[in-house]
Amino acid sequence: MGQWCPRYCHDLDMDAMKKYMCLICGWIYDEEKGWPEDGIVPGTRWEDVPSSWICPECGAGKEDFEMVEI
Ligand SMILES: [Zn+2]
Repeated sequence: MGQWCPRYCHDLDMDAMKKYMCLICGWIYDEEKGWPEDGIVPGTRWEDVPSSWICPECGAGKEDFEMVEI
């Protein structure tokens, strides 16, 4: 087909900031805001958050977080 992907498609893939919720306590990590208290600057993608990072609320690891649509 070779159809060109419209711009909004790229925006969804490339620019959309996501949120991740801690399944233990419900705390939400927002990529748009980051978590400056732990040195995670606003706009940091979830995959770029260090794997050693833990939930500031309950101490759960990244594996206990799940992407959420808000
Ligand atoms: Zn938590």
